[in-house]
Amino acid sequence: MRNYKFRLYPTKQQEQGLQNALSASRWLYNYFISKNIHTVEDMQFALTELKEREPWLRGYHSKMLQMVIHKIHAGRKSGIALERNGHKVGKLGYASEIDYSSFTYNQSGFEIEKHGKTDLLWLSKIGYIEIRLHRLVDNIKQITILRSINRWYAIICCENIKPIFKFINPMRSIGIDVGITKFSHDSNNRVIENPLFLKKMLKPLKRASRRLSRRQKGSIRRRVARTKLQELHRRVHNKRHDFLHKTSINYARKYDIIFLERLKVLNMVKNRHLARGILDNSWSTFKRMLQYKAKSVILVLPNNTSIDCSRCNNKVPKSLAVRIHRCDRCGLMLDRDHNASLNIKQRGLKLLMGHEEVTPVEILSESVKQEQPIGQRWSVHVY
Ligand SMILES: [Zn+2]
Repeated sequence: MRNYKFRLYPTKQQEQGLQNALSASRWLYNYFISKNIHTVEDMQFALTELKEREPWLRGYHSKMLQMVIHKIHAGRKSGIALERNGHKVGKLGYASEIDYSSFTYNQSGFEIEKHGKTDLLWLSKIGYIEIRLHRLVDNIKQITILRSINRWYAIICCENIKPIFKFINPMRSIGIDVGITKFSHDSNNRVIENPLFLKKMLKPLKRASRRLSRRQKGSIRRRVARTKLQELHRRVHNKRHDFLHKTSINYARKYDIIFLERLKVLNMVKNRHLARGILDNSWSTFKRMLQYKAKSVILVLPNNTSIDCSRCNNKVPKSLAVRIHRCDRCGLMLDRDHNASLNIKQRGLKLLMGHEEVTPVEILSESVKQEQPIGQRWSVHVY
């Protein structure tokens, strides 16, 4: 299954319809929580009864109401899983208007239609809403409507398209080293700087989050401050994604195989600094994007990629501040990140050639056009 997110453009009246469906779902959710009904069967039974007592519920798509039960069930299940892993988890609580931001149509009650140049999403009991489809969707299994601050989105879940075979040429391969001082440096000596917007947005972000923490809980000013902060985050998110999409699609088009380090990212995610947090996030998003856009992505071990000499394998230890790799044995001198990316590529090629299940000629990979990896794809992970 794959999820695709599309923006909706409801009119004022349609927006009211969406909002009503959201409120009805939340009402039902809180009803179940308040009554402490536990199993799925009991909740289903209670819902049937409830519809007799509260006939207004029949004004909503019945599958959508059913999905509220699944939401509670899934919430409880993940709570149990977290507890098993040693986290402290309370009981599911009431959902406030802010927490409750989505409802779901499963299997039925939706349709995508084209009217001239406009794409429309039809939802049973709600009607037609303009949707901006930036890609084809097929085999739709489920649609979740999501409210994000004052925007509406449809998350469309499609069944997988069958994997296809593609020709992959190891000559068309590249190693990419991601960094802090610059976004990336690849084995063809191409450097991509960190986008400027990040730096520019840091101050306003910090200011907005400080303002939020000063506001009194439950006050209107706090709500305003929260919306402001969320909007800033969304702006950073959108710009960052735009940059990452462009960068990753360039690599995916140019190269059949992309070698990356099995990432530093994992060790660094916990960083509390805002800028670093966003950077870390960018790298893993970049990797994920490459994984669904490129024919193949191979992850190599990160040990010593910046120390080993990419020409003679001599060890050249250096601190982070040393930006040049200078090898006494073979005389190689180049940017440290370039050296690292060459090592990444060489390791990857070695791995590729030595990997039993992989022939360099024909490798199972998925269509380049798909988004959001869920499930298997062809990439080799080295632990
Ligand atoms: Zn050397």
